[in-house]
Amino acid sequence: MKIICIGRNYTKHIEELDNEKPKEPVIFMKPDSAVLLKNNPFIIPPFSEDIHYEVEILVKINRIGKFIEQKYAHKYYDEIGLGIDFTARDLQSRLKEKGLPWEKAKAFDGSAVIGKYVDKSNLDLENIKFQLLKNGQVVQDGESSHMLWKIDELIAYVSQYFTLKIGDVIFTGTPAGVGQVQPNDELRGILEGKEMFQIKVK
Ligand code: ZN
Repeated sequence: MKIICIGRNYTKHIEELDNEKPKEPVIFMKPDSAVLLKNNPFIIPPFSEDIHYEVEILVKINRIGKFIEQKYAHKYYDEIGLGIDFTARDLQSRLKEKGLPWEKAKAFDGSAVIGKYVDKSNLDLENIKFQLLKNGQVVQDGESSHMLWKIDELIAYVSQYFTLKIGDVIFTGTPAGVGQVQPNDELRGILEGKEMFQIKVK
């Protein structure tokens, strides 16, 4: 199983990190070892002083495909989830400056939170509302209608480079409001009013 992540898919988040608006989606990956095991806390790694949460809509791939046309992309997933792309922002900034790959900042153990899934037939995919709460306060409030590239476009795009396999997960990018986590923080992800995950930070 692999995790394919999209960067810079929401205009307001691009602005808050002072990034350039991309002409094509920004792609990076996380290995399966990045998945935070169920019911485990997220442990702040020793190599970063600035771990950020990024709440994201997830798409679970349900069949194998390569060079998928956008008009058929909807056949490749039935379930939509919510997760966190934990990011060592200090390390990422240093790597970015030097034009180096981001993996150490993005793909470390525990950096991928994968919450519950819901059947996509229960959702209006063009208009999914989701939130991240930190210690009970809403810190990120997103809607899929604000994505620069929609789910089906992303599937078509990434499958040009990577064969999609059953169980692969696409992280579709984060809206604005990213920020730091501290020990003892509690993070809750909500999608259309339903709790999708709850994790403790240590
Ligand atoms: Zn992200």
